[in-house]
Amino acid sequence: MNIAMIDDNMLDADRLDKSYLDRGLYFGDGVYEVLRSYNGKLFVLDEHLERFKNSLAGIEISGVDVNEIRGRVRKAFDAAKIPDAKIYFHVTRGSALREHNPQLNIKPNFFLTVSDVGDSSKSKTKGISVSTYPDLRWKKCSIKSLNLLPNVLAKMDAAKKGCDEAILVDEQGLITEGSSSAFFACINGSIHTAPTTANILPSITRKYIIKAAGLLGIPVAEKSITPQQAKNADELFLGVTTKDIVPVVKFDDSIISNARPGPITKKLISEFIKFTQ
Ligand code: PLP
Repeated sequence: MNIAMIDDNMLDADRLDKSYLDRGLYFGDGVYEVLRSYNGKLFVLDEHLERFKNSLAGIEISGVDVNEIRGRVRKAFDAAKIPDAKIYFHVTRGSALREHNPQLNIKPNFFLTVSDVGDSSKSKTKGISVSTYPDLRWKKCSIKSLNLLPNVLAKMDAAKKGCDEAILVDEQGLITEGSSSAFFACINGSIHTAPTTANILPSITRKYIIKAAGLLGIPVAEKSITPQQAKNADELFLGVTTKDIVPVVKFDDSIISNARPGPITKKLISEFIKFTQ
């Protein structure tokens, strides 16, 4: 008999619940999305679904109907009745006995949660601290994959240093992005952010920040910067779906913009909100 143990409980491995055989668990073999609602309205669901489609294609998971996922997102969101909700969902390649090469007839697994997005007003008004960490991720970070161990280690390191986010620095000494956010610097009146190459997630918030900057007449340079340039920047901020724009007031040991959210960041926050109404 094939045996499995779950903590102290021994059971017939052939009768395991499929969640214990999920390739997401063994290999991080899946992709995910996070979107949110503002005041009862889902924000740019179609763009998240489009990115999700690209992530699925990026790891060669086929047979997933994205329209069906759209329906499930709406159904769960309506049922939860949470006006400012965070919707997380993932698809893994499926469940099977552990073997690197997946079986051909494997069927993808879907999972979704809806929860309160939480209050980010304090970090918006006061700003947050960040610390640098080496970018240890793989070479396809444009795929939103479930392999998040380097991001987790980076976030743990930041937390140990009393910081809220880790800023990842690649082997060339350039900032790529945050462990779970896009990174921006205001230098001499223009905004700098890394270009969306294969080593960056095409952040949806980033796209809307660039749009907001355009509407405000603020130039944007899609150009990577070094930690030293970040320390000398006039303002720094992060972009992420769950919090949109978060000012950064400390970068490693350097205080940024007198430890207060800067004027450009504040203008962008006000402009961004208009997209969500
Ligand atoms: N970069 C990374 C590595 C992320 O994990 C995230 C979000 O989780 C972002 C950027 C921001 O992406 P988005 O604006 O689509 O939430």
